Amino acid sequence: MSYNINITTVEHSKVDALDFDNIPLGTTFTDHMFICDYENGEWINPRIVPMGMIPTHPAAMALHYGQAIFEGMKAYKNPDGEPMLFRPEQNAKRLNKSADRMGMPNFPEDLFVQGLKELVSLEHNWIPPKGGSALYLRPFMYADEPFIGMRAAIRYKFIIMASPAGPFFSKRIKLWAEKQFIRAAHGGTGEAKAAGNYAAAIRPTELAKAKGYDQVLWLDAAEHKYIQEVGTMNIFFKISGEFITPKLDGSVLDGITRKSIIHLLRDKGYKVTERLVKLSEIKEASEKGNLEEAFGAGTAVGIAYIQEIGLEGEIIHVSNESPVGLDINDTLNAIKTGQQEDKFGWMLKTRKELA
Ligand SMILES: *Cc1c(COP(=O)(O)O)cnc(C)c1O
Repeated sequence: MSYNINITTVEHSKVDALDFDNIPLGTTFTDHMFICDYENGEWINPRIVPMGMIPTHPAAMALHYGQAIFEGMKAYKNPDGEPMLFRPEQNAKRLNKSADRMGMPNFPEDLFVQGLKELVSLEHNWIPPKGGSALYLRPFMYADEPFIGMRAAIRYKFIIMASPAGPFFSKRIKLWAEKQFIRAAHGGTGEAKAAGNYAAAIRPTELAKAKGYDQVLWLDAAEHKYIQEVGTMNIFFKISGEFITPKLDGSVLDGITRKSIIHLLRDKGYKVTERLVKLSEIKEASEKGNLEEAFGAGTAVGIAYIQEIGLEGEIIHVSNESPVGLDINDTLNAIKTGQQEDKFGWMLKTRKELA
């Protein structure tokens, strides 16, 4: 179904003031945003308006009870200059999975994709042209009903904003295997892309950084034995030729990069197993010289190569090179930027101009 999205444009775009060679991270926003309101049990008034402040009541329930979820994705340009989205329907589905867990209403998946397409079409001049750069898109939903009391809100906002992002060259990262704090427990909200999961990760991440590490390696809540994720990325290991990644057991976020990497690895003939992954087996593999590669995977950086994992009193070393990880990262980027055939049908083209 096609929705009628009302569009109010700015008089003067701010894009000319942006230096595409020096894009400040996370602080630049495009001219417009997409907004939709949830009232009386339905989503109404989908619109694109100039980017700006939103008046918020101090009792808005998201501020107190945390009904807030989000998505993260990127738009790229193909060699013909056409804006393209990578698997946006996957983000639409995942947003609704998060919404279900947090007692929030679902957002129509076709409106999610249409809103993205129209916003990206309008903002196509903001998509950085350089390789490795992209227009980061942040769809999110939160409870804006003013109410004090414990129940699901009855009013929400769904918004998509866009922020240009420069090329992200990740250095090899050092991880701290965290045994005091946890990210997700069985029955918790680990599978939801919920704002509160991030809030709970901030302090442990700061402490890991103070110890000289880049990111936290999250372990299971019950025994601190099994690996879940790294920072806000999923994680892959290559041991004796086989790739392994923690299975989706309810406390691991179902990453779209993870899903795509598994697909690409299998397509290239590698064996990939999703299962419980013990920290101790990674240590053993490293000692035996069988830990061939290890990397994090997520939309923000693509693939982040891991250098070492620190735990109380010892360090697990990872091999210096990650040839398959590099190859997969290149393949993924080539598909996303239209430089390689999209043989899995992952890319959605949008127009440069609105009809
Ligand atoms: C968003 C996210 C990921 C990565 O998901 P992508 O869809 O690949 O960007 C992984 N782990 C956590 C905790 C996340 O929030």
